Amino acid sequence: MDSLVRNYLDQYGVSDATRRFLAKPQKMFIDGAWVDSANGATFDIFEPSTGGLVTRAPSGTADDLDRAVRAARRQFDGGEWRRLKPLERERLLHRLADLIETHGDELAEIEAIDMGKSVTFAREIDIQGTVDTFRYFAGWPSKLHGRTVEPSIPGNYLAYTRKEPLGVVAAIVPWNFPLQTMAWKVAAALAAGCTVIVKPAELTSLSTLRFAELVQEAGFPDGVVNIVTGKGSVIGAAMSAHPGINKVTFTGSTPVGQEVGRTAVGNLKHVTLELGGKSPVLVLDDADLASAARAVANGVFFNSGQVCDAGTRVYVQRSVHDAFLDELIAVTRTLKLAPGLDRDCYIGPMVSAQQKKVVAGYIEAGRREGAKLVHGGATPEGPGHFIEPAIFAHCTPDMSIVREEIFGPVLVTSPFDTLEEAVSLANDTPFGLAAAIYSNDLARVHTLIPQLHAGSVYVNAHSTIDPSMPFGGFKDSGFGKDLGPEQLDYLMETKAVWITLP
Ligand code: NAD
Repeated sequence: MDSLVRNYLDQYGVSDATRRFLAKPQKMFIDGAWVDSANGATFDIFEPSTGGLVTRAPSGTADDLDRAVRAARRQFDGGEWRRLKPLERERLLHRLADLIETHGDELAEIEAIDMGKSVTFAREIDIQGTVDTFRYFAGWPSKLHGRTVEPSIPGNYLAYTRKEPLGVVAAIVPWNFPLQTMAWKVAAALAAGCTVIVKPAELTSLSTLRFAELVQEAGFPDGVVNIVTGKGSVIGAAMSAHPGINKVTFTGSTPVGQEVGRTAVGNLKHVTLELGGKSPVLVLDDADLASAARAVANGVFFNSGQVCDAGTRVYVQRSVHDAFLDELIAVTRTLKLAPGLDRDCYIGPMVSAQQKKVVAGYIEAGRREGAKLVHGGATPEGPGHFIEPAIFAHCTPDMSIVREEIFGPVLVTSPFDTLEEAVSLANDTPFGLAAAIYSNDLARVHTLIPQLHAGSVYVNAHSTIDPSMPFGGFKDSGFGKDLGPEQLDYLMETKAVWITLP
């Protein structure tokens, strides 16, 4: 750890547990053992509010992945894990949820230091969401079953279906909600009876490594959960191609997801792809403008805009457009830009210098293409990768800031007149992750919901996530679902059994 990060931790204060975790050499978790990469390579982990070096983690190789696959296969193909009764799996998952909760403050600090996000939101949203996800899926193993059927064909048969776990699942995770996204994938896979190998994003591997210690403490058999850290182009790509893996569940950008999908389908793996978004928001003229402005600002600037379903394209009915924009700017002014460990931080830094450069490039492109920057958009000099939230008005559908996913605190608005025009603007995108409507007119709301091409529709809210509700996109935002009972369908095979009776 360099002096920038040491001073930062001293300035804001973090727990002894977090300091202990950050001070020790980081290892991967394979087959219940803490190991270095097969070739000894490591990569640096930086803190985004200061840009300082935190620690290093192993840069895994294809050989490391092979070892993890062998361990996960052994457990799946008749190992101790496979022989556990459903209620025993439930007990382990509950124990893990309890341990995550007990260490919640430490995990939130690790997440804030690794990713740059607000430590307060990390505790309230990321860590609580992780605990809730494990609790939710902990209840499922004893409730997974097939059905008996009475066939109509001639003859006398007993016909029934069995639900069986898919096998070894590889989870490839992005950097914006590292622990929570990992939890969505791992909790459901374990509930279904699968074994897992996780590859966290290079930028944010630390909370997943701390999580692995809790997996061990909870008493999961060795090899049921494995963590291989390292490059996406090495580990992620090898996961998509590995014959010993039955399913890849990927969350990340659309271009990488397409590559993962092509490779995985090429060797007939199951695939879930949770990809990018450019979600529309429709503010109708009857909406409560003050509360809509608060929700819209939260829906795009939360996590510094690094949210896949952020409501970044805001279409406002013309008669209230200017009044709404004033409210939105007023709310945005109150959002504190600060280092992640500041307890009052609302908008933290971008995750990396590279991400700051990308977002600043889009703000510049918006200006160049003729959009009107009505608030923010400055990029303070370092230390840290900060960007002020930006609001552009009078945007047109052809502008790059309207068409492309920015993954930063940048919002574009434009007015609409009729609901037909609003639907057409909302759906004018290759993405289909989410959409939001602000209105108290139920008839208009219900007319709009079926017309929006999106995996989630929020009404008078944004990004309301609960483990009991499925999450996943339409169109270029991917396919398959995380969360809810729907996710379990993507982690289990259905076997049809026919028995001829005398
Ligand atoms: P990314 O696609 O660059 O990386 C995601 C993961 O894929 C990382 O772990 C990375 O190491 C790995 N990876 C990189 N190259 C790979 C390859 N060739 N083969 C296999 N794996 C590879 O995305 P990111 O920058 O980490 O995350 C931001 C993106 O994720 C945004 O597009 C965002 O919308 C999307 N996202 C989607 C959801 C969702 O649920 N739909 C949620 C969060 C983020």
